Amino acid sequence: MKLNFTGLRALVTGAGRGIGRGTAKALHASGAKVVAVSLINEDLVSLAKECPGIEPVCVDLGDWEATEKALGRIGPVDLLVNNAAVALVQPFIQSTKEVFDRSFNVNVRSVLQVSQMVAKGMINRGVAGSIVNISSMVAYVTFPGLATYSSTKGAITMLTKAMAMELGPYKIRVNSVNPTVVLTDMGKKVSADPEFAKKLKERHPLRKFAEVEDVVNSILFLLSDSSASTSGSGILVDAGYLAS
Ligand code: NDP
Repeated sequence: MKLNFTGLRALVTGAGRGIGRGTAKALHASGAKVVAVSLINEDLVSLAKECPGIEPVCVDLGDWEATEKALGRIGPVDLLVNNAAVALVQPFIQSTKEVFDRSFNVNVRSVLQVSQMVAKGMINRGVAGSIVNISSMVAYVTFPGLATYSSTKGAITMLTKAMAMELGPYKIRVNSVNPTVVLTDMGKKVSADPEFAKKLKERHPLRKFAEVEDVVNSILFLLSDSSASTSGSGILVDAGYLAS
């Protein structure tokens, strides 16, 4: 998708790998100034080499104080993609406090925190903005081992709506993208059992999983003025799974 974001500054969380990296690269190629936030510094170093001008920020978004320190004075941001997340697989009956807390801190609390910082800046500058939260198809359906992970994504559905409602009067749109499996490092981990992966793929009407590029295209659409009247909504990139 060819969109022009020249003159805008975008912040992408979880930009070191997978969907976040693809998003940061696409925004950079479309003219945006990109702030790339991630956990492992080497990923950010290689991204900055590939895309000169990208501003890397290395921080654990699950740590409130560290995030405040790293991003509290990040400056003007027009476009925000809350993409960073962990998928910690545990059967419900064996679910632990540690995994629950880590999952909610990274996948949900950091979305609230980073969006608050960015939205305050947009409101103070009196500019319109667009925020995209990366949720998942498992906000609506779930699979064994994903009780905690899919609960974080369900929470993102309501957080997206609440943010859209309260930020709408400031011309800040908030939407989500909800993909099925994408074979990034995370996607490979959650679909590691070949038998499960084969059966799951066959249950998709399009008989496939999604590609990083498919998800990035939906993110860019929601960030752009092409979706100027869309807020509080979500785009399924699920190869038809929820229709089946
Ligand atoms: P990856 O695991 O491939 O990449 C996740 C990125 O998030 C990495 O760059 C990672 O950093 C970063 N990250 C994770 N935890 C933190 C943290 N605490 N602080 C800062 N950065 C962090 O995931 P995907 O690209 O597959 O997933 C991207 C989004 O898409 C997620 O929200 C995920 O839930 C969602 N999604 C993914 C699906 C899939 O099948 N892949 C399906 C549906 C939704 P680092 O590299 O430095 O560790």
